[in-house]
Amino acid sequence: MRWELDWLANKARLTPDAVAIIDAEQKKHWTFAELNQLCENTANWLYKQGVKKGDRVALFSPNDISYFQLLCACLKLGAIFVPINWRLSFHEIAYILQDCSPKLVGYHKSFQENMENEIFKLYRSFQVNQNVEKESQYPAEPIHERDPLAIIYTGGTTGNPKGVVLSHRSIMWNGINTIISWNLTNDDTTLTYMPLFHTGGLNALSIPLLMAGGRVVIGREFIPAKAIQYINDYQCTIVLLVPTMYQMMIETNEFQTSTFESMKTFLSGGAPCPLEIYEAFKRKGILFKEGYGLTEAGPNNFFIDPHVAMEKLGSVGKPMMFNTIKLVKENGKEAGVNEVGEVLIKGKHSFEYYWNNKQATKETIEDGWLKTGDLARMDEEAYFYIVGRKKDMIITGGENVYPLEVEHWLASHPQVDEVAVVGLPDKKWGEMVAAFVVLKSGEETESEDLKTFCSYKLGKYKIPKVFYFVSELPKTHVGKIDKKQLKKMGSNINEKA
Ligand code: AMP
Repeated sequence: MRWELDWLANKARLTPDAVAIIDAEQKKHWTFAELNQLCENTANWLYKQGVKKGDRVALFSPNDISYFQLLCACLKLGAIFVPINWRLSFHEIAYILQDCSPKLVGYHKSFQENMENEIFKLYRSFQVNQNVEKESQYPAEPIHERDPLAIIYTGGTTGNPKGVVLSHRSIMWNGINTIISWNLTNDDTTLTYMPLFHTGGLNALSIPLLMAGGRVVIGREFIPAKAIQYINDYQCTIVLLVPTMYQMMIETNEFQTSTFESMKTFLSGGAPCPLEIYEAFKRKGILFKEGYGLTEAGPNNFFIDPHVAMEKLGSVGKPMMFNTIKLVKENGKEAGVNEVGEVLIKGKHSFEYYWNNKQATKETIEDGWLKTGDLARMDEEAYFYIVGRKKDMIITGGENVYPLEVEHWLASHPQVDEVAVVGLPDKKWGEMVAAFVVLKSGEETESEDLKTFCSYKLGKYKIPKVFYFVSELPKTHVGKIDKKQLKKMGSNINEKA
């Protein structure tokens, strides 16, 4: 046992009887001692199956304790955990399996049928369960802090997924830093509905909270009323969801009637958060914060202090410790106050490299700086605001338009439920600003009204030239608006017009 890296074994020694994991659907729980024993047994079992240091162990499962079980078994063995996004197509999953070539593929019993697909037949698979017998002890190989512990694949909607390699150090430092900056303690309980195959479910809060000695309640299929019930039943204190989930939540009666007595902070992350969600929490007097992160960055890099969170709406706060952040303009110079630049991060919890992809690694890490591809500005008091993705920025007639600014304003229109702004090819201007709008049910409005509304706040070149009224916006597997799909839809409509 290597105490210096095995944070779970440490917790099991310090607070053996404290509850670590609760499966809300199955009404089961595991203490730190039980979780650690389960992971020890699983590590022994994996070793008996031939898994050694550096081998990959994949997992195909809905939100379940098996994520923590296999991650920590890999941590003990020096093996590499690869959670797979089961919402991807078989084609994409086949690519991931081929790329990481796992020694074993674990699956949840509810996914047994999927294992019949020929893409899985090339690999040895096993059904993960928690009744693992004691086996002889796996050998304690030396593990270095920069050795890979997990590969998390991202970017399934834009070309081939890339395997983000997170070392023991990345995961450990993200934990330590998040505990300090977000003030996590062993009195905290979170509910995770964010998928555990994604950095938002696994790394952003669940692992740091376990490192702090707190509890993780696992939720599976997101039903807003049920989520609210679990928050109250399990006395949750801090919860991280994507904006789409909050949007669904604030529309329920349960949200209106619940006082969320136990809750300290609701966090939104993974995508820009519409201001109306802040407003809904503000009206209830409950702290709501926006977080920004990305798989490659570990993922947490910013935090916002509670006393300003509800004033600096839309801000992701200030850089966390152990991270240097700079904003770099197109011309390579650092952005001044309120100027927009790309977010570059140098820190202890950034990823090591992309698995099997030297080219992508070279393009993303430059002199130790992680180029995020996200654009942000910093205000006079050094608070940061994410303004959008570099590749989503619209250049129309030489002017830069940041879709988020237009989206925020349009979302405050009384008839608008959801909105997304993209750039579409335009012969004269290079690109034109186009808005996809979902109206609130039973409401009606016209493009001209929305254009007039935009003119109250936005410069002329930022006002969308076209508005498409749609019944819903396409979303990616983690609930982010799929802008690539919108661009395709817009271009198709234009071609036909
Ligand atoms: P992923 O690695 O899948 O978590 O995706 C990370 C990306 O999500 C970032 O690079 C951003 O583009 C986006 N993102 C995450 N949080 C926010 C936020 N609070 N505001 C705007 N974009 C965000």
